Amino acid sequence: MGSGALWGKVALVTGAGSGIGRASAIALGEQGASVGLLGRTSEELEMTAVEISRGHGKACPLTADVSDENQTRRAIATLIEKYGRLDILVANAGINGVWAPIDDLKPEEWDTTLAVNLRGTYLTVHFAVPHLKIRGGSIIIVSSINGTRTFTSPGATAYAVSKAGQVAMTKQLALELARHRIRVNAVCPGEIETNINSTMDVRSEDETQIPVVWPEGQVPITGGRPGTAGDVAEVVLFLASDRSKHITGSPIWVDGGQGLLR
Ligand code: NAD
Repeated sequence: MGSGALWGKVALVTGAGSGIGRASAIALGEQGASVGLLGRTSEELEMTAVEISRGHGKACPLTADVSDENQTRRAIATLIEKYGRLDILVANAGINGVWAPIDDLKPEEWDTTLAVNLRGTYLTVHFAVPHLKIRGGSIIIVSSINGTRTFTSPGATAYAVSKAGQVAMTKQLALELARHRIRVNAVCPGEIETNINSTMDVRSEDETQIPVVWPEGQVPITGGRPGTAGDVAEVVLFLASDRSKHITGSPIWVDGGQGLLR
């Protein structure tokens, strides 16, 4: 017999191979949940799965692109076949995409960011909700300070719009799904040390940057250092558990005060 606050529960985490998704999946696994690890890169997912089983947790890698309807449908069906239920969804997969002046940002670049961050969140929630409706559950959407508190990241229009859209979805669905005992909340991280910057493209920053000067860096509570994926995973764990049973429709900023500054 296992133990942990989430023993017997099943969670799905998207973007579980890296950064915030990986840390959240490991934290959920440590608390006894069986975790579906959805992501684009199977090698990354395998490594997260190994980490979870090292802590005697259960995990199942699910290779899929969240912006693809059929792949996402199939991944969630596979998870249900394996574990038989779903209680917790962490819709986390996302990209920074291209940050560029609006007159230089290409339509296909706009589409890619919105496809992964917003359509991907919609598709994941869309296919997960029928299973969550059976027993109730918790949906946690990973948004950002961008688009919610912060509008000074140079050229980040498509990204900010996708992240603002996720918070709108959180609030709309909190009401729609309350009758099914499904809570829906968002976490809005500030700068967190992960791999997200490795694939982004920033163009003509000099044209779009808003100078923001702070004597101790951009994250007030740490004296400037970025947060860690574990800092965000702590909040994901809280929102996944019954300890947050009266919280729904709420964005929680995990940014060390950065979003208030800029
Ligand atoms: P990361 O790049 O380290 O991890 C993201 C994961 O998502 C990767 O494993 C990647 O393969 C996966 N992924 C990307 N596109 C996908 C797709 N189409 N389908 C399936 N999987 C896909 O990034 P991270 O920093 O951990 O980002 C996670 C979330 O946190 C994102 O939604 C991001 O916008 C948000 N966020 C991050 C920061 C930060 O500073 N790192 C700040 C605010 C918000």
